[in-house]
Amino acid sequence: MGVKNPWEPVQTVSNNQTPRVSRQLHVKNGEAGILTTQVSKLIDWGRSASLWPVSFGLACCAIEMMSTSADRFDISRFGAEVFRASPRQADLMIVAGRCSIKMAPVLRQIYDQMPEPKWVISMGACASCGGVFNNYAIVQGVDKIVPVDVFIPGCPPTPEMLLFGFNELQRKIREGIPNPPDPLKASGMKLVGPIGEGL
Ligand code: SF4
Repeated sequence: MGVKNPWEPVQTVSNNQTPRVSRQLHVKNGEAGILTTQVSKLIDWGRSASLWPVSFGLACCAIEMMSTSADRFDISRFGAEVFRASPRQADLMIVAGRCSIKMAPVLRQIYDQMPEPKWVISMGACASCGGVFNNYAIVQGVDKIVPVDVFIPGCPPTPEMLLFGFNELQRKIREGIPNPPDPLKASGMKLVGPIGEGL
């Protein structure tokens, strides 16, 4: 007989807590499980979780994009850490920063070189609408050149905002929402490259 511990807990399960029962949720008994889905949904799910962005930074927003891919924000959690130097190996273009009129044909050419299916995120006020640069040298929204799937506001948008926009793009892909219409094809306009060739 010892001395009773005055601090001994008197109740280990609260009144509103469901007592835990040991329950086997999954029994390995050798039987094959059944999963029903559609092939298109499976493909869309795979695509949304393995987006490869093309390395394409235009201005200060690109610094935030770079930090999104670094260890603190870690875009690889969503399967998109493989920034490709070649557009032929990429399926996502993050337009990070203001796009000058001179750069517009280059941006379009890189977009055209990406294989289908492909998506575009417009990152920041400058890329989305020209931002503070309301002048003749800056494209007033890259959706005049390429079809933009997700716009991210801010100057600059934080890495968290880019991740949120990225998650929204993943949701659109999983739900099978198509790209917006191509602005150049819709308008019938042509961009002329730096050495005069039509794009
Ligand atoms: S939105 Fe702001 S941070 Fe981004 S490119 Fe424009 S000025 Fe730079």
